[in-house]
Amino acid sequence: MKLEEIKGLCDFHVHTSYCDGENTPEEMIFAALDLGMSAIGFAGHSHTNFDECACMSLEETDGYEDEIRTLAMEFGDQIEVFCGIEQDYYSEEATDRWDYVIGSVHYLPSQLSFDDTELMLQQAIEGEYGGDVYSLCEDYYRLLADVVRKTNADVIGHFDLVCKFNRGGEGQRQGKYFDEGNPRYIAAWQKAADTLLETGKPFEINYGAVIKEYRTEPYPSVAIQNYLAERGGRFIFSSDAHSEEGLRAGAEINKTK
Ligand SMILES: [Zn+2]
Ligand SMILES: [Zn+2]
Repeated sequence: MKLEEIKGLCDFHVHTSYCDGENTPEEMIFAALDLGMSAIGFAGHSHTNFDECACMSLEETDGYEDEIRTLAMEFGDQIEVFCGIEQDYYSEEATDRWDYVIGSVHYLPSQLSFDDTELMLQQAIEGEYGGDVYSLCEDYYRLLADVVRKTNADVIGHFDLVCKFNRGGEGQRQGKYFDEGNPRYIAAWQKAADTLLETGKPFEINYGAVIKEYRTEPYPSVAIQNYLAERGGRFIFSSDAHSEEGLRAGAEINKTK
C-alpha cells in the first residue's frame, strides 16, 4: 500500500493507550474526524523481548489489532482507518498482518535505549562508548541503514532520532552532546541515507519532537531532508502523536505544508 497516494489531511504515525499513548483508538478517531482528516493510521510500538514497558505485549498486540479492525469497519464511511505498526529494529514478530510498517531504531546494538531519557543517553555515551559519542552515532546509523530489510518497513521512521537530546538552550541550538557538523557524524548519516535511498521507501518527516518541544526542527533535520530530496528521496508527514493534542498540533503543522 502506498500511503503517499492517500489524499487529504492524514497521519499514519499515531500511538494509543495500547502502548505509551494517552488516548484510546476510538478517542483518536473522534479527534481525527473533528479535524476533518480523510485517513488515520495507527502505528503502535511492536513487541520487543526487552524493555517491555515501552511496547505492546503480545496479548496487547492482538487486542490492538482487533479493536482497530473493528473501528475501521464502524467508521469506514467517515474516515479511512489503517492498522499499522511501528516495528522496532529489534522486534522479532512477523509484520505481514499489518496494513503498513514504519521501521524504527530506538535502541543501540547493546539494546540500550538512547531515546527514552536523556540520562540513559548520557550513561550510554560515558559507559558503553567511553565518551566517544560519534561511535554511538555510527552504531545508530549502521542499524538504521539496515532497517528496511530487518523490519520490512514501508516507511523509514524518524531518521535522525539519535539527535533527540542533542539540542538545548536558547533557540535549541544543536551540539549539546555532539556537533552535527562533525565529519564523522555527517559521514555516518550520509552512508545510511545512501543505502536507504536505494530501497525507494519514503522517509517520515516526523514532528513528534517539535510537538513535544524537544526540537524546533522535525526528524530528519532540514540539512538531511535536503540531502535526501536532492537524491530523489520521498517523504511522508507524521505527528508521532501520543495524544489527541498531539494529533491536533500535528494537523495544524501539516495544513501549512
Ligand atoms: Zn519511534
Ligand atoms: Zn512513534
